[in-house]
Amino acid sequence: MSVITVERKILAKNDEIAEQNRELLKQNDVFTINLVSSPGSGKTSLLEKTISLIGSKVNISVIEGDVQTSLDAERVANYNVPVVSIVTNGACHLEAKLVQDAINNLDLAKTELLFIENVGNLVCPAGFDLGEEMKIVVVSTTEGDDKPLKYPKMFRNSDVMIINKIDLIPYVNCDISKLKDNALLINPGLKIFEVSCTSGEGIKEWCNWLIENVKGKYIHQTQLVY
Ligand code: MG
Ligand code: ZN
Repeated sequence: MSVITVERKILAKNDEIAEQNRELLKQNDVFTINLVSSPGSGKTSLLEKTISLIGSKVNISVIEGDVQTSLDAERVANYNVPVVSIVTNGACHLEAKLVQDAINNLDLAKTELLFIENVGNLVCPAGFDLGEEMKIVVVSTTEGDDKPLKYPKMFRNSDVMIINKIDLIPYVNCDISKLKDNALLINPGLKIFEVSCTSGEGIKEWCNWLIENVKGKYIHQTQLVY
């Protein structure tokens, strides 16, 4: 048996469970976002800002994936939303089975918007369907402008790119128009937001778009490649 065969089997099993997750979430009218990025891009900070702004208008629940510690889960729980923490104990991505277990610990009837904060990693989370409506990739200006070219699969499989830490543009080596061009080269349908979770710039625009789409108008534009 070749390694490739084993990997295909793992992915086939994952996709089967992801479909079950998707079906269950759909039945309960839950709009689910798989938040992906490299470590330190600001996924948790974005959740904090988003919940602060629209948490009273939309019922939000969060699944927090981390390799170790429930530090981020604790941060998010401070905003009075239901949070389930998944500690992967070394695994560098979430799988559909872990998310299924987490979903079973949430009250889906009381959830309109579910965020799954994936493990910080731009590689394999791109290949694992969790049953989400869409992937949203967060990239910060401190990472430079070449990430879409280096990790194309992640940007191809995402519907939205959020550029975070725009307040740091004067201090970092990142050409933001080049970053956007690179991302659109990989995925011309990508919706782009520019935000700063520190200054709050752009958060309102992102949240307005989010609320509109949670209300069920979203149609997939991205062709997913696993
Ligand atoms: Mg985090
Ligand atoms: Zn991995």
